[in-house]
Amino acid sequence: MSAQTKTTRMPKVSETTLEINLASLKHNFEYLKSKLQNNTLFLAVVKAFAYGSDASIVAKTLQELEVDYFAVAYTSEGVTLRKAGIKTPILVLHPQLNNLSLAIEHCLEPSLYTIKILKAFARVARALNQKNYPVHIKFNTGLNRLGFESEELDLVAEQFSETTALKVKSVFSHLAASEDLEEKGFTLNQIALYKSLSSAFTKKLGYPVIRHLCNTSGVLNYPEAHFDMVRCGIGLYGYGNSKSEEQNFKPIAALKSVISQIHVVEKGESVGYNRGFISPSSSKIATLPIGHADGIGRHFGHGVGCVSIGNKKAPIVGNVCMDMIMVDVTHIDCEEGDEVELFGPALSAETSAETANTISYELITGISQRVNRKILKK
Ligand SMILES: *Cc1c(COP(=O)(O)O)cnc(C)c1O
Repeated sequence: MSAQTKTTRMPKVSETTLEINLASLKHNFEYLKSKLQNNTLFLAVVKAFAYGSDASIVAKTLQELEVDYFAVAYTSEGVTLRKAGIKTPILVLHPQLNNLSLAIEHCLEPSLYTIKILKAFARVARALNQKNYPVHIKFNTGLNRLGFESEELDLVAEQFSETTALKVKSVFSHLAASEDLEEKGFTLNQIALYKSLSSAFTKKLGYPVIRHLCNTSGVLNYPEAHFDMVRCGIGLYGYGNSKSEEQNFKPIAALKSVISQIHVVEKGESVGYNRGFISPSSSKIATLPIGHADGIGRHFGHGVGCVSIGNKKAPIVGNVCMDMIMVDVTHIDCEEGDEVELFGPALSAETSAETANTISYELITGISQRVNRKILKK
């Protein structure tokens, strides 16, 4: 009897840990692939530490599964992948002017979105004696973030007739609201504009290039717009951006912690900085070693966020501290050393994010590098 109680209480983690499940990653990859035509290429977006998980391990796993391309936001992220042994082509979505030669040194392929960066990259490629160095041309079709305007199409194409240092590998754009079916009209316009821009551009170039437009929600909601390749991020990590897709994905990451200490706090006593919580009655308060420096933002304080302990929900009380949070466990049978889930199987990151007025992307990419990562193979 007491031995049994011991096993059920046995914590699986002994410190704050982000568990990363590679079998779930494979499941999500295969699910997304099942939505594509057989010859559609798959680019895996592994920017921001593979959405807060572990970019090198995620990329290695996907490389073994024969993913066609990777994308990162910045050159330094691509350099890290090359150093980890990634040989698959890597698109750098937002290369910065100061590290273009570094990109070439590590065989990283830039997205070019202004004449200024295109010319700068051509100069660097010529200086490094490159021939047909692969680059990716991005057009703005309505997101108004990065990309050439339609009017620049001829000018962009001309740059490539003037240099042999560069060769266009792909032409792409990005959807602004692919997850929002109320914006379907807007998205269909983006798709139509992309279609006409990309075909006019390849005609001018005179050679075929890879065309790609869709992110995860684009893949799920606009099968007619997959073109030659799709770029998936959030779906690989287990979120489908809609209630109907939720059950088809498996979140790859679970954030866990342990109870450091439990206090009994009497009615009228306070908890935490600035006395953020005043106990309405005698309560049991557990302190956990995770705070805003680990990625649990202050917006989760004051009962907005909660954690799961033995499948029961414990609200965060008072202010989130830098290294700790306190949770109300008055109605939960628990003790110091017990395992706590911040998000994972018992508590979806998508739902948690929603309660604090944010999105899964922000919650999962915000888990800081201080948090120990543990890789699970199944
Ligand atoms: C981040 C990003 C993606 C991935 O989007 P998801 O919604 O995570 O699938 C695709 N394309 C571009 C240009 C991006 O910046």
